[in-house]
Amino acid sequence: MSEVKEDKPPLLAGVVGFPIGHSRSPLLHGYWLKRYGINGFYIPLSLSTADFVAGIRSLPRLGFKGVNVTIPHKVSMLGLADSVSDRAALIGAVNTVTFKEDGSIRGDNTDGYGFIQNMRQHAPNWDPRSGPALVLGAGGAARAVISALLGEGVTELRLANRTRQRAQILADQFGAKVQVIDWNRATDAVDGAMTIVNTTSLGMQGQPELNISLDLAPKAATVTDLVYAPLVTPFLEQASALGLKVVDGLGMLLHQGVPGFEMWFDQRPEVDEGLRMAVLGK
Ligand code: NAP
Repeated sequence: MSEVKEDKPPLLAGVVGFPIGHSRSPLLHGYWLKRYGINGFYIPLSLSTADFVAGIRSLPRLGFKGVNVTIPHKVSMLGLADSVSDRAALIGAVNTVTFKEDGSIRGDNTDGYGFIQNMRQHAPNWDPRSGPALVLGAGGAARAVISALLGEGVTELRLANRTRQRAQILADQFGAKVQVIDWNRATDAVDGAMTIVNTTSLGMQGQPELNISLDLAPKAATVTDLVYAPLVTPFLEQASALGLKVVDGLGMLLHQGVPGFEMWFDQRPEVDEGLRMAVLGK
């Protein structure tokens, strides 16, 4: 009996992490699939560290075009990919994977791209070259933000992290434009900073607040927080009360999904209010 051939099977992509139940990426990509009427699915895939390599390698054979990769696999994915983009190499982590026709695995990192696009969309007058940037935190997200800000031409980047050593490692990697500031001097480093970014997990639901005063910030400064649950963090509330321009972190999540969706489903998707509402579950 001859094998039945399917003309056009649905396009498949997903997000791989552990745990994965909290991920908002299925809402994000699901909204776009419906909006553009694409015959495709975006599936949350729970893969423990022990199963990660075998799991990823099985996906192209199951028909997956690619996947997003999230905690705790972003760094391991860098080693597993056959090739990686310059920005993924610089950030030291992969969040977007494409399985190519020749069987190879391509890794990219779109977090920095998402960060910049979010700033451009919600603070159109923001100019990264207008003055120093202050980045709070030196974890995985900070790497993406620092490389993106330097890529946009920021000439002075002040970096403060609770564990100074982690900030120093990033400063050594990213070069002389990055100056390490003691965590307990971060309030002083707000003085003159035109771009102020919280990349720590402080302010997230269930976490303590980020207690750094913005009183010394220039009136024209733009303040953003990568935390998006809650959408308006106490840090952003403080910035708004001082009359500073504020950008919440949800748009970064939405924009970072664009390049992957375009590669897997052959459609450049738009980030609009409808998408924000869908991802917020409204
Ligand atoms: P991570 O690698 O675990 O880094 C966590 C950072 O928070 C570190 O700098 C850590 O400082 C700091 N921190 C944690 N608890 C602290 C405390 N009590 N006091 C002072 N600093 C503290 O995490 P990540 O992946 O960078 O993510 C950081 C945040 O960004 C999370 O809330 C995540 O949800 C958010 N995020 C958002 C987006 C988006 O699209 N909007 C994308 C990525 C991440 P130490 O080095 O001293 O531990």
